[in-house]
Amino acid sequence: MRTVSEHLSEILSRLTPLNPVRLPLLEAAGTVLAEPVTAPVDLPPFDNSAMDGYAVRAADLETLPAVLPVVGDVPAGAPGRAGIEPGHAARIMTGAPLPPGADTVIPVEWTDGGARTVRIDRGAPAGNYIRGAGEDVRAGAVVLSSGTRLGAAQLGMAAAVGCSHLPVRPRPRVVVLSTGDELKDPGEALEYGQIWDSNSFMLAAAVREAGGEPLRQSFLGDDPKLVRKALQEELARADAIITTGGVSMGVYDVVKAAFSGGGEVDFHKVAMRPGKPQGFGLLDGRCPIFTLPGNPVSAYVSFQVFVRPALRYLQGLEPEGLPGVTARCETALTSPEGLEHYLRAELTFADGSYTVRPASAQGSHQMAALAEANGLIVVPPDVTEVPQGASVTVLRLPS
Ligand code: AMP
Ligand code: MG
Repeated sequence: MRTVSEHLSEILSRLTPLNPVRLPLLEAAGTVLAEPVTAPVDLPPFDNSAMDGYAVRAADLETLPAVLPVVGDVPAGAPGRAGIEPGHAARIMTGAPLPPGADTVIPVEWTDGGARTVRIDRGAPAGNYIRGAGEDVRAGAVVLSSGTRLGAAQLGMAAAVGCSHLPVRPRPRVVVLSTGDELKDPGEALEYGQIWDSNSFMLAAAVREAGGEPLRQSFLGDDPKLVRKALQEELARADAIITTGGVSMGVYDVVKAAFSGGGEVDFHKVAMRPGKPQGFGLLDGRCPIFTLPGNPVSAYVSFQVFVRPALRYLQGLEPEGLPGVTARCETALTSPEGLEHYLRAELTFADGSYTVRPASAQGSHQMAALAEANGLIVVPPDVTEVPQGASVTVLRLPS
């Protein structure tokens, strides 16, 4: 039996981040930058007004109130570079370039708002309400470093320095395929002995949460030849494949059978609960395949523990697991010796600290408890008893 970290290390050691592509800005949202972005110009590119008001010379406001002739308007985007003479004012709008000759901006609230002449009641030193060229970003500065996930603010930054396309590692296209003769699609009628396929929808959504592009395949029956054929076909479009079911110790274990003797996929018992039977390999020597167990909670936990870090790595991110917090456990727990135990739990934050309540239903088929949980308590393999009130590590589930 392998430990969880041995299995994860083995997976990560066989992965290579996806090759970068250039994507238009919006398509790059959510992907990871593959090269740094530098600013070609200063931001702001020119000195401009931070307020609606009047551009003047501070020296003309020594005696107050001061009444100055207004020589014109300077709106944002004003193309001209007309300056103002000493003793004059120009009406200026937020974002408009400061006219040469002016050295300060007086907000309209400090004036009578005049259009031909303006009476200014309050003075200010040079530089008042002026946003200086380069005060945000200097030309040549790195504004986004390689390996940054492009959220809204980062896309805005890229646009602000004039990028129309970005070099990114694309979202991994992940084929999700479940197996089992008992499966039906939601919406179809069930006959006795059948169940609706939940894994493929759950894992497709989990792929999306992890930054991938899910490609859900309809489920396959328990025929190893069909599974092999379908996976071969999927290789054309997949950066990674996830299967569920058919990897434990039964005689109908279709995924195991599909790869038996081939050596492409290695099947292991991993010292964890839920999720003991795991398989991983590279199809065609390049496409990672994760063969997860069929029980829905096992499949979900296996995804979070192994597939999520792997998908991050493919995107050029650190292959971190889910973020963990320390919490006070509300009830005592027992845990199997030798297995890393992931318990579905409700994590709450109050009065500055976390408490966690394990769900009472911990079966690997019990979806309702998983759907209510927002965390997974992790009990290490060497711990068999957790007293009430003890500190435990809780992984926060994506929400
Ligand atoms: P298996 O490993 O294929 O024997 O599946 C283990 C358990 O998980 C069985 O009870 C299956 O019916 C169930 N199961 C397998 N695949 C799915 C699925 N896609 N959705 C819901 N339950 C599943
Ligand atoms: Mg099955």
